[in-house]
Amino acid sequence: MSQAMRSVLIRLCICIAAVLGTAVATLAQDAAPEFDLRDVDFATIGDVGLKGDWGFVFGELLSPAEAHAAFRAGTLAPVETPSNWTDHLPASTDNPYHHGYASYVVRLRLPEAPENPLVLHVDRIADAYEIYWVPFNAPETAWRLAAEGSMTGPLVAGKTHRTHSLAQAQDGLLLINVRAGHTSRNGMIHTITVYDGRHLQSTVMIERLFEGAMIGFIILVGALNFCLFAFHRKDFATFVLTLAGVAILIRFVTVGDNIETLFGAQWHVLRIRLEHANTAFLFWTALLLNQTLLWKRVRNNRLIGGHAVLTALYVVFCVTAPLEYVTASEHTLEAIGFTTLCIILGGCLTAALNKVQYAAFVGLSWFAMGSAAIYDALVSDTTGYDSNVVDRMFVLGLMAYSVQVGRRVISSINRAAFLEEERILLKQLHQDAVNNARHDHLTGLLNRQAFDDELAHAWLQKEKENSHLSLILFDIDHFKGINDAYGHPIGDKVLQSVSQLLRDTRLRNSDRICRYGGEEFAIILPNTRGKDAQKIAERLRKTIAGHATACAPDLTVMITCSFGLATATSKGPEEAVQLVEQADLALYDAKGSGRNKVKRYGMPHGDAPLEPAAKTA
Ligand code: GH3
Ligand code: MG
Ligand code: MG
Repeated sequence: MSQAMRSVLIRLCICIAAVLGTAVATLAQDAAPEFDLRDVDFATIGDVGLKGDWGFVFGELLSPAEAHAAFRAGTLAPVETPSNWTDHLPASTDNPYHHGYASYVVRLRLPEAPENPLVLHVDRIADAYEIYWVPFNAPETAWRLAAEGSMTGPLVAGKTHRTHSLAQAQDGLLLINVRAGHTSRNGMIHTITVYDGRHLQSTVMIERLFEGAMIGFIILVGALNFCLFAFHRKDFATFVLTLAGVAILIRFVTVGDNIETLFGAQWHVLRIRLEHANTAFLFWTALLLNQTLLWKRVRNNRLIGGHAVLTALYVVFCVTAPLEYVTASEHTLEAIGFTTLCIILGGCLTAALNKVQYAAFVGLSWFAMGSAAIYDALVSDTTGYDSNVVDRMFVLGLMAYSVQVGRRVISSINRAAFLEEERILLKQLHQDAVNNARHDHLTGLLNRQAFDDELAHAWLQKEKENSHLSLILFDIDHFKGINDAYGHPIGDKVLQSVSQLLRDTRLRNSDRICRYGGEEFAIILPNTRGKDAQKIAERLRKTIAGHATACAPDLTVMITCSFGLATATSKGPEEAVQLVEQADLALYDAKGSGRNKVKRYGMPHGDAPLEPAAKTA
């Protein structure tokens, strides 16, 4: 073998060795997963997620020593975290959700002297867990970092923001033993993260503040809309906005594990059922909200009804089905949500084509919310984190819609107030018109038209009740002389003065005083006998004769009137017009016998009836 040949062979061997070495090193890395964070400046970066391959054992719980031995021997199967271990195990017929135990192991190297203390952040491990730190070179000194729930006792909920100090920890194995939950989510569902202690504190604080502000806004918007609905009922959208507010509030409370934190692990199952059922309800309110936003009312009852039936079925499923089936139905829920979104966007498009105001704005905001929902679904699928962007978007949408609907309600209230004013004005005008038509402009008494109506009415009543109806007609004596002497305005004043005297006279409510024409007046007295009417006429005659009307500072006028009265009984007359004629005859008689007299028809001189000839006398 030549020198050159040997040299080539040697180089080839080196290359093969290098390739093999790299391959072995890679395989060794696979078998012994680790996160080397020694050079990470946590104070600047804030946090590092331990996302990637971990060693995994299913069906048993390793002790620290066993974990160390298995890690050194490279017998741990790699599994990518975060993940639901259901995704990594073959389906089992007797237990589709693989209830049981598992251990996760990873080597972790931390900086020797970090600026701030480091903490391990554990979020949503299902369901009870314990974490050990196993120093790499002294496994016998392993210690338990943290534990939640027990491996044999009652299960506990996966709460957010559980942090455990990594003080003393430097180069060692992180052993996490997990007991399966009673949902379909088992294992390390969110990324385990190493945090700079200070950074985590401020992150959690900001998140809590943000969450608090959101909850505050929802309560405010919900309460406002409820008040608008309860006190004004001008817009059905205010009720739907209240419903949506309640649904989004329940979602905020249930999604963040707050219920377990506040009330204890026993609420875990109920909380998950409520979270799923409420999300479906939220989709339904979104559909209803869209219709009431666009059209002010429910436009498509069948669609809303159909969706309500679907939602109700899903709610029943959430309440009754085994919990693991409920959590496994997440994709069904996503499908319902996506379908709802498509229907909503279709509705907005129809409205926009029909030139409905703000349809494009509403459509765009739903589109933004839909995009956020899809982003959320994708992010939580790929990183295991719930970004909850859609919830925040929905709150923003709720606020924007509330402003919009609030303006709509205010303009409705203004319009209603305007219409009410109009209505009152019209009623007043109508009343005035009726009054004007029935009253005499100069004296304010009932006019001739009203006299005819009232007499006809009184006549009917008399017929019905078989009672007495009296009528007084009276006329101012020598009135023409007053006009001639002082002028018509003074004459008018005298007429007004007489009217006032009539109004001041005590009569029954059913009696009617009218200006019959010129300086003639009439008083209709239902249920009044002739002699009683005569007394009234006599009283009036005296009052008028004794009254001096002050017409001007230096002018008072005194007048007298002549009265004629007639009474209708069951014996006659037969018609109302005859009663008027009889009263008129009596009036003529009063004039003829010297004026300032009261004459009663049928008794001019004792009991002898008055003859029509008297009129011409
Ligand atoms: P007698 O005692 O016979 O009733 O005499 P008289 O002058 O009162 O009767 P006559 O029928 O001759 O005159 C009535 C007058 O009443 C004539 C008319 O100008 C006047 N008159 C009618 N209506 C009004 C009115 O609204 N205002 C005024 N100022 N005068 C009126
Ligand atoms: Mg007269
Ligand atoms: Mg007259």
